[in-house]
Amino acid sequence: MPTTEKPTLETLRGMLVALEGQGYSRYKEIKGGYLAADLELLVDYVQGDPFARPSRVRVLVPNHVAKLPEWACDDPVRRRAAADFVHRVTYGILTQTPRVRGSGRSGDLDVLRPGQQVLERTALILDEAGDVELRMGVGLPADGRRILGAEAAGLLCETVPDALRRAMNEVAASVAALRRHVQTVADADALRTQLSGRGLVAFVADGSLLPRSSGIDDSPLRADRARALRAAPDGLAVTLSAPNAGLLRGMGIPAGVTLIVGGGYHGKSTLLRALERGVYDHVPGDGRERVVTVRGAVKVRSEDGRSVAGTDISNFIGELPGGERPERFHSASASGSTSQAAAIMEALEVGAECLLLDEDTSAANFMIRDARMQRLIAARDEPITAFVDRAGELHRQQGVSTVMVVGGSGDYFDVADTVIAMTDYQPRDVAAEARAIARELPTSRTREGRPWHAPARRGVLPESVDPRDGRGRIQVRLHSGRRVLLGAQEIDLSGIEQVVEPAQLRAMAWALIRGLGGRLLPNTDVAEALTAIMREIETAGLAVIHPEPVGDLAAFRIHELAAFLGRIRTLEIRDLAGTRVAPSARAQDD
Ligand code: ADP
Ligand code: MG
Repeated sequence: MPTTEKPTLETLRGMLVALEGQGYSRYKEIKGGYLAADLELLVDYVQGDPFARPSRVRVLVPNHVAKLPEWACDDPVRRRAAADFVHRVTYGILTQTPRVRGSGRSGDLDVLRPGQQVLERTALILDEAGDVELRMGVGLPADGRRILGAEAAGLLCETVPDALRRAMNEVAASVAALRRHVQTVADADALRTQLSGRGLVAFVADGSLLPRSSGIDDSPLRADRARALRAAPDGLAVTLSAPNAGLLRGMGIPAGVTLIVGGGYHGKSTLLRALERGVYDHVPGDGRERVVTVRGAVKVRSEDGRSVAGTDISNFIGELPGGERPERFHSASASGSTSQAAAIMEALEVGAECLLLDEDTSAANFMIRDARMQRLIAARDEPITAFVDRAGELHRQQGVSTVMVVGGSGDYFDVADTVIAMTDYQPRDVAAEARAIARELPTSRTREGRPWHAPARRGVLPESVDPRDGRGRIQVRLHSGRRVLLGAQEIDLSGIEQVVEPAQLRAMAWALIRGLGGRLLPNTDVAEALTAIMREIETAGLAVIHPEPVGDLAAFRIHELAAFLGRIRTLEIRDLAGTRVAPSARAQDD
């Protein structure tokens, strides 16, 4: 038998019982792998004391035990969905497990909490062969600093493996639910894939339910309060075909410039937010399972106070007071309009296909400059080319669409291809009406701005980002779910609105660390460097970005990764010859 070399789970039990009452540091002795008849337990990392971050363990269940159906494993999309399903079941079991008492984090069972989206996560990995791997944190129990050996034996030799055993049984007993989960995700993926070919940037199936429980709860609003979308207006209705659900009718948002208009509180932002999330697949019952957006749809917003490192914003911003160069815009505290311009250029830098904007989070002077203001402040004194003068051009010349909420400015009627009015949470097609009004009431504003030009490319100066703390150790910590401590600096990522789980932030930090450690080559620009990282993840799996087998990472897009990079305050850039591009003196004193 080839397995005789590895100790068994019973050996581990014996070791732990023997450690009863010993000093906590002796837990280190259990690091290693232990076999049971049906699975393997790996103790990868042992915490130094009961108050430290819990120890990390993995449970591996081979395919002949896991017995997941072949259709759940043989395709990457279905596999992601099946892994997500098993993860949720396991999470449910572990969070209901009574907690062992003890000092500090004794008895903690940490497994990543999944949200409404179906993401690849390292908490539960399912491979092509159907092997299952659970990764979690376990707080090894102590009384003070003394080992509670019997309790630890119960946790590691029973509770943890049993949780996965029970989860696999539960999955086997609920094949119908697994199938629905997998089919829902496969359908969403197929719908998304059809968009471009149909000339669409988004699809919202009839009957979708968009509003959420609350601003801090992404689950659907209670059925008795929420109003589902009725039949899409005829002018926008399309029928797409899903492999499992069949033909689906809904509202298609065509490529081009789309306005979402309507009175306050009628559901404009709710629709846009659903479109933002449409780059992800959702769990059955979410209400947005059949709301899909092209993969490269990027929400951009204004975020005054953010830092910017050498982004070329000259398509939006001309001469700045103080001599700051917009082609290499540096700021430790960007304004509303310059931060929004930077967000757009950074999105385009890594291939955004569609920009999503909401008036609620946009800088007013970035969105519009009307005729009266044009008269008062001459173009030569206003550095900003408003987005209204760029949106149409972006689509015609760059192939980049825009979907934007603008309840407040009819000046956009001149550049809109599609106009959707939200009334009582229901969409209407008002493009013809808007066009007629635009003819009847010309705005008399003048089109501003030089023609769009290709932005300057930029590379990253890897040594400008130091992920190490004062003691030279790599440090990545999440603060409040929206901030990351990377090395010695705290980075505010709350402006990246398409991040749906904190685990994505952690994963991006590690992806960047990996990139800085060799992949951000001197002659590559930001897009090439980040694409190389994404490609590696795609081929080797998300876990590749972390040197240790951790279970707290979730998948992200290149767009969020670029946005993360752009918000690192120490970030410096270089030109493609490798020379550092220094910020002007003014940007440095900011
Ligand atoms: P707007 O951007 O048009 O001002 P919002 O999209 O912010 O409006 O929506 C206003 C409120 O209505 C929010 O509390 C939102 O959750 C709720 N809401 C949006 N859509 C629906 C719906 N279909 N059914 C019930 N409530 C909704
Ligand atoms: Mg709104």
